[in-house]
Amino acid sequence: MHQEELQYNKLLRSYEETRTRHLREQKERRETVYEKLPELAALDRKLAESSVAAVKAALDGDSSALDRLGKDNAQIASEKKALLQSAGYPADYLELPYTCPDCKDTGFINKEKCHCFKQALTFALSETSTLPHLLKQENFEHFSFSYYDDMTTDSRLQLTPRENMEKIVADAKQFVDEFDSVSRSILIYGNTGVGKTFLSNCIAKALLDTAHHVVYMTSHNLFEVFEAHRFDHTTESSGDASLYQYIFHCDLLIIDDLGTELSNSFTNSMLYTCINERQLRKKSTVISTNLSLEQLRDRYSERIFSRITGNYTLWKLIGKDIRVLKRMEGSFS
Ligand SMILES: [Zn+2]
Repeated sequence: MHQEELQYNKLLRSYEETRTRHLREQKERRETVYEKLPELAALDRKLAESSVAAVKAALDGDSSALDRLGKDNAQIASEKKALLQSAGYPADYLELPYTCPDCKDTGFINKEKCHCFKQALTFALSETSTLPHLLKQENFEHFSFSYYDDMTTDSRLQLTPRENMEKIVADAKQFVDEFDSVSRSILIYGNTGVGKTFLSNCIAKALLDTAHHVVYMTSHNLFEVFEAHRFDHTTESSGDASLYQYIFHCDLLIIDDLGTELSNSFTNSMLYTCINERQLRKKSTVISTNLSLEQLRDRYSERIFSRITGNYTLWKLIGKDIRVLKRMEGSFS
């Protein structure tokens, strides 16, 4: 089969899996919320009854009843939203979640390919895009522990760099295995060259292989998108606007090299919004950075710092710069 056709079919399957996953997500959310807020279950029953009555009124041609039921429904819907919000949930928490609201994750709008589908197809076919290229090499199967020292114990962690890395890679595999059931976000931090990007690429690869929507961005690119969106809310169909939506809705957002971007108070507040909204939607985010926790606190606002340190799993990578080790190996061989 032609490469493009293969990719096309693979994408269609992944859209179907996305829809199934979202339906399951919605069902699980509903069950949890019903348990916490039985009043909400009662409202949903009222809504169902009134919908049945509306169908009957429509069949009977009773327009005044239909009118009244319509108003009832709107009233119940707004009560539901208020109830959800008072319990700390987003108002749309029980709506069917969409990765792309424009095509409702079908990939098509009136038989035309949606922008998200075009983008995904281009991405899948693109040879210039660095991620798919890297991912051939950077995956869990190619992960080598041999660059991590197993002799010197780190006094703070009470582990050798290798033991530390083994523990983290095991947790990374667990993160991937449980991805659909456990929403978790991760901060990977440590010095240059200790394998942070490699590790996040391994995670990206594993989740792309299981048909998840993964967006990988350097923090530099991410802040550029934020900045571009600041002055341009109108062209919702343009590539950047859809990418902007993706940043908030994709299954996994990877922000690589946080701290290297050109930031200002606007982009920093966008970073908070992004982190916060993804967390409210129970979407996972992986952030990697060369900054220490202290530097992170100094550079970003207190609320960003506390969102990350309070809610993210922290993976501290230690060891020597692998790129330097590899170069030295090269010069000896
Ligand atoms: Zn779409």
